[in-house]
Amino acid sequence: MESGMIAVDRWTEGSQLYFLTHLHADHTRGLSSTWARGPIFCSRITAKLFPFRFPDFNLSLLRVVEVGSWHTLSLVSLATGSPAVAEVMAIDAHHCPGSVMFLFRGEFGYLLYTGDFRWEITSEMANIGRSMLLNALNGSKVDVLYLDNTYCNPTYCFPSREVAAQQVIDIITSNPEHDIIIGIDTLGKEDLLLHISHVLKIKIWVWPERLRTMHLLGLPDIFTTKTSLTRIRAVPRYSFSIDTLKGLNAMRPTLGIMPSGLPWVMKPLEGEKSPSCSTFSDTFESRSKWPPNDGNRVDQNMRCVERFHQYIYSVPYSDHSCFPEIKEFVRLVQPLNMKGIVSLSSCYVDPVYYLSHLIRSNQPSHTTYSNLKREDVGKVKVKRESKMANSKA
Ligand SMILES: [Zn+2]
Repeated sequence: MESGMIAVDRWTEGSQLYFLTHLHADHTRGLSSTWARGPIFCSRITAKLFPFRFPDFNLSLLRVVEVGSWHTLSLVSLATGSPAVAEVMAIDAHHCPGSVMFLFRGEFGYLLYTGDFRWEITSEMANIGRSMLLNALNGSKVDVLYLDNTYCNPTYCFPSREVAAQQVIDIITSNPEHDIIIGIDTLGKEDLLLHISHVLKIKIWVWPERLRTMHLLGLPDIFTTKTSLTRIRAVPRYSFSIDTLKGLNAMRPTLGIMPSGLPWVMKPLEGEKSPSCSTFSDTFESRSKWPPNDGNRVDQNMRCVERFHQYIYSVPYSDHSCFPEIKEFVRLVQPLNMKGIVSLSSCYVDPVYYLSHLIRSNQPSHTTYSNLKREDVGKVKVKRESKMANSKA
């Protein structure tokens, strides 16, 4: 397999097969309803959401890759013109609905493209993913790991989504007279909203397009577009701002919550207090099970809920893995080589910088896939998607 045969989350010309890890906008840049460059492989849920995102798309070009099963790919060698066979397996990335990693195997060895992923160490669902990945490798190692390096820096240490969800609940219940708005993307954070609804026995307002997405996903009927039915509204992230909150507070007391692994970057207004680590920090610390007792504790770096503005809380609810989770993942995979998929970022960090001790670059490969030639590995390149740091979905 040569460069140009497979592209993941990249939509330029020159590849034979195209793969889509998930439907966030920073992974579909260049993809449109008039796409005609070849088949697109994706998960079943992504395929279901696809027509909603790309109306009039030629759906005969979509190929569903079922999670956990090897899927045979037919390719043509660019060098010889002869058929080349490879296989791919999709593994749940637990990032947003439909998000998957792709594990490729062929004469080139094993390539793993994570896309965006969150595998919490304490997560049962992530454990299932780990088992699936190890079973698929069957003792072989990954030759090239394309890694979600969004938070591949030791300063990024935040709790599990379960813990962060409780922080959101605490904010809401501590402010019973306030309306609440929560900034979300067009896809993702559904589990957080379901949790809030379940615990507080309340409906969640979403905008009409988002309600359609919830219906397509088959989620419980707890979402509404009627503001009179609830004090909690999930709003598009782009409309979440201090100005929006000020406007809302002119009518009713309203608090904004931004769930994200990144602190919501907004300096407090002059003269306004910005107490970092608010009163919720005690609650947070008592409930946090993170990090695990692995001799690498970084409690002092643990971000807690922050109140950036009198109307706005930032909660570290992230759909990307934090640094300790990335580290555990790389330790699990033991790749021969590793590359970050976030490549056009002002805060890009080559994952090798912090995790070089976990890769096997100077060790012989143990790959057992038939007819593998070591010298072929370096020739294989999967085109990588690129995204900007300010679009961490
Ligand atoms: Zn994403």
